[in-house]
Amino acid sequence: MKKFSNLLELTQAFNTEDKAIKHLKEIRWHGKPYCPHCKHNKTYEFKNGKLYKCASCRKKFTVTVGTIFEDSKIPLRKWFIAIYLITSHKKGISSLQLSKDIGVTQKTAWFILHRLRLAIKTKSFNEPLKNTVEIDETYIGGKERNKRLSKRRQNTQGRTLETKTPVLGLIERKGKIKAFKVENVKRKTLHKKVIDNVVFGSTIMTDEFKSYRKLDMIYKHDFIAHSEFQYVRGECHTNTIEGFFSLLKRSILGIYHFVSPKHIERYLIENTFRYNTKEETEENRFNLLLHNCNGRITYKELIN
Ligand SMILES: [Zn+2]
Repeated sequence: MKKFSNLLELTQAFNTEDKAIKHLKEIRWHGKPYCPHCKHNKTYEFKNGKLYKCASCRKKFTVTVGTIFEDSKIPLRKWFIAIYLITSHKKGISSLQLSKDIGVTQKTAWFILHRLRLAIKTKSFNEPLKNTVEIDETYIGGKERNKRLSKRRQNTQGRTLETKTPVLGLIERKGKIKAFKVENVKRKTLHKKVIDNVVFGSTIMTDEFKSYRKLDMIYKHDFIAHSEFQYVRGECHTNTIEGFFSLLKRSILGIYHFVSPKHIERYLIENTFRYNTKEETEENRFNLLLHNCNGRITYKELIN
């Protein structure tokens, strides 16, 4: 398997299309090709090393069939660079920047980035959180300037602006993070998300927002009173999740400038993936995304 630890080494390791295809085969099939149509594992390899035929359904396929790369005219080598950039840049990369970096149109770059976010979403990090979990919600869109102030004055304008999209974040201390776009911040909505994603009996830390009340029937619940300018009380704080939110917002404002509400979920996925793999090497993060490349989404599906 090819080794690399930076972008230069990646481009050297995959300086031909054949090397990129070979790497994808190793990551996806682990040396045992299977048919993407019927999942049968007896296959015939054609002499060119690219085309395969299934012994069962007799259909032909390549390693990209059934993946996010299927039907793409973009060389796999360019996809690899895009994967490297989206997984290693702390704030992500815009479609405009990617289009310049790999020499494609912005529309193509936009499509590549959305397909990569789909791959990130597919299987990663579905396990529920446990131990001590910080929970907080924020709003994406609208003015961020007065965030701290509005947060202090919660239950007033900070949490009710209609132009903003609410996002709920949950982070296990020294563990993984999850973040979701939510319809609203009503108790019922937030409780369901918490219950679905945090192991019963864990300790949760929130602020005093009324929608978090009554979670102490299921969890050990500790909260701090932001309205009384309290931010840390011993072990009790929500600074980790707030730190993630500020990174997320810098990413959105700095790189994407504008995110339409319907795409917020995808940017959350990208940012939580980077956060959850921050201890990994560049190579592991790259291969993890590649490993999740099954599944495809058409341009039509994306824009609808
Ligand atoms: Zn088959």
